[in-house]
Amino acid sequence: MADLFIGIETGGTKVVAGIARVGSGQPEVVAPPIVVPTTAEPGRMLDGLFERISATPGFAEVAAAGIGSFGPVDLERGSILPTPKPGWSGFPLLAEVRRRLDVPIVLDTDVNAAGLAEWRWGAARGASVAVYLTVGTGIGGGLLVDGVPVHGLLHPEMGHIEVARHPADAFEGACGAHGGCLEGLTAGPAIRARWGESGESLPDDHPAWEMVVWYLGRGLAQIALTVSPEVIVLGGGVMTRSLHGRVGESLAAALGGYVPTPPVTAPRFGSRAGLMGAFALAGMAASR
Ligand SMILES: [Zn+2]
Repeated sequence: MADLFIGIETGGTKVVAGIARVGSGQPEVVAPPIVVPTTAEPGRMLDGLFERISATPGFAEVAAAGIGSFGPVDLERGSILPTPKPGWSGFPLLAEVRRRLDVPIVLDTDVNAAGLAEWRWGAARGASVAVYLTVGTGIGGGLLVDGVPVHGLLHPEMGHIEVARHPADAFEGACGAHGGCLEGLTAGPAIRARWGESGESLPDDHPAWEMVVWYLGRGLAQIALTVSPEVIVLGGGVMTRSLHGRVGESLAAALGGYVPTPPVTAPRFGSRAGLMGAFALAGMAASR
């Protein structure tokens, strides 16, 4: 028995929506997903999106929907918290989608959504405690316990933990809030600020990658010691350099043999993680 779900991924530059058939296996989209640019008028943008998705085959039979959104998100109210993205601060995303779609809907962060997709169908399948981290223009982290994304006062922001400094690193850090937190030392903007070039243009043997590997190992050690994950899934643009093996070794070195080293793996879904995550959230909505 498979249900039709809508998945919506709201990202910093584009919003993607699709309809998929979801049964026991991974989602199968029924038509090419709709992609619209993220504009400064989110209400009007949703109008355009729904005009198109309502013309997609299967729309009338949709049973539930999931939204994976860029953060930070007020998950209690379903609205976007203050953000530099014009027009989005305070936008009541969940209520605005509900106004256009009368089915059960779950909203979560894009990282929690991606982590949930990996837990249901991918690299973290069935783990009782799993961590999903995306390392790209920022570092976002999701913690899943028995397949449920952990929320608290807000939601975990593991990318902003403080880490020990690399002995050869005098860079002050690129995080606007903390300077040299893990994100401020490791994400894309930090690589560009420290080396004067974007990560994409640096060769594989550039010393930047050794530093990224070093910091991620230290950061993951803090996370592993705190929540004891059975698996850590690392996605995002920086990780497309296939650094997983080296990060795993760096993590083992940082843990010093005190606890077992959790496996550090690549995500199954990669760039499709956001939409797959939104379908996974729709599954949660349908089962409530
Ligand atoms: Zn920070």
